[in-house]
Amino acid sequence: PWKYDAAPQSSDQIDLREQYDLFIEGHFQKPEKGRYLPSVNPATEETLSSVAEATQQDVDKAVAAARKAYNKTWSEMKAADRGKYIFRLARLIQERAREFAIIETMDGGKPIREARDVDIPLAAAQFFYYAGWADKLDYAFPGRKARPLGVAGQIIPWNFPLLMLAWKVAPALATGNTVVLKPAETTSLTALKFAELCQDAGLPEGVVNIVTGTGQTGSLIVNHNDIDKIAFTGSTEVGKIIMESLAGTDKKYTLELGGKGPNMIFDDAPVDQAVEGIINAIFFNQGHVCCAGSRLLVQEGIADRVLQKLRDRMETLIVGDPLDKNTDIGAINSEQQYNKISEYLELGVEEGAEMYQSSCTLPEKGYFCRPTLFSNVSQSNRIVREEIFGPVLTIQTFRTPEEGIEKANNTPYGLAGGVWTDKGSKIFKVGSKIRSGVVWANTYNHFDPTSPFGGYKESGQGREGGLHGLYPYVELVPG
Ligand code: NAD
Repeated sequence: PWKYDAAPQSSDQIDLREQYDLFIEGHFQKPEKGRYLPSVNPATEETLSSVAEATQQDVDKAVAAARKAYNKTWSEMKAADRGKYIFRLARLIQERAREFAIIETMDGGKPIREARDVDIPLAAAQFFYYAGWADKLDYAFPGRKARPLGVAGQIIPWNFPLLMLAWKVAPALATGNTVVLKPAETTSLTALKFAELCQDAGLPEGVVNIVTGTGQTGSLIVNHNDIDKIAFTGSTEVGKIIMESLAGTDKKYTLELGGKGPNMIFDDAPVDQAVEGIINAIFFNQGHVCCAGSRLLVQEGIADRVLQKLRDRMETLIVGDPLDKNTDIGAINSEQQYNKISEYLELGVEEGAEMYQSSCTLPEKGYFCRPTLFSNVSQSNRIVREEIFGPVLTIQTFRTPEEGIEKANNTPYGLAGGVWTDKGSKIFKVGSKIRSGVVWANTYNHFDPTSPFGGYKESGQGREGGLHGLYPYVELVPG
């Protein structure tokens, strides 16, 4: 086992294999067709490693391993023992937190401060939380028995790689299911490191299988006949394709999709605190956040003051080397995402919006983007309506709470939003009218494993986290 004082202090001490195979039935196995995809550090454009691309035979093997483990060990085991394994995984993540944080930052481009303080501790917290539920399902569902569904196929995006894995794997295991998980093609390394933890934890073979690859591999999982449940986090576009593929099958599914979060600032809000909240809401993780507060709505009376303070604060943000602890905004996750954001910046200008960018110097190599603010926008602009998934904020104003609520809800999405005000009564009145799964009050991007998370409208179906996060993994029968 890893000893904390031997934990890596810098990226040179990180031990990555040149090539990662698929993790099936407790072992790393070569893909049947032998293809590998490069995993690139978006801050340097250097290749860190390569990961296998799973094809049909590999997915078949992984599903068969998960089915065997489900039948022979995991569903037969005492619930308290399952809990112990999950607890052990949580402890191992904690013990190797530094290593995970550095790899997450190198592979995905996020600032090390965020990987260290948010992604990795929250991933461990998720496993701790669900470890506790494993032998308490009778209390979660009084008078009924919760039966596991069987084999869960899980597909995750690249913005919070280990954390999204934790959101999926921990509740599935706690309820007695086994797993075939596919990480995103640009950020598979921490999932493969997690596979090593499963070995270290002595987790029975086949309970967790990690198959890497592109969307094609994801589609093989979605359409596999011997999978009982699909848990998907990713874009609304792919979520719709998955929903269509699953229509008419007996598979259960949950979808955590895109967002365009409204962040509403009332004129009685403490302005300095609200400006910090706006910065966190949109620039955390380069804006690669499904629940990002990417639409700022400010009450007219304070709009000029907020705009000026926001620009001043944006000017102080440090954009650059994600491994530097002082960095506020790291690298855009991939060249493809960088190009998508650049196109939206051009589009915003074409749509007649006024663009403000901080004047920082960007590194010469790597995919970096200045924090950007578009004012003078209208509701019909695409930059206001579509998810950009980058450090790009639009600002609109409102006069009355009713107008603010109307603007907040004028979107196909409904994942998260924020309300900033000095008045508790306004928080409840306005908050309850925003049609989204989460509404934060005088804060933003605040996560906790005990709280359910999920979308209204095109932001998804079902909830993850908290007690509600158990529901999608069980069938309830009379107790
Ligand atoms: P994406 O939809 O392109 O990919 C997500 C995952 O699905 C990847 O692993 C990808 O390989 C796989 N995939 C792609 N096509 C597939 C297909 N046809 N069948 C099965 N799998 C397929 O999304 P992304 O660009 O990786 O992630 C960004 C998106 O994720 C944003 O829209 C963001 O809002 C959303 N997201 C949502 C949440 C949430 O909790 N609601 C959390 C994080 C990210």
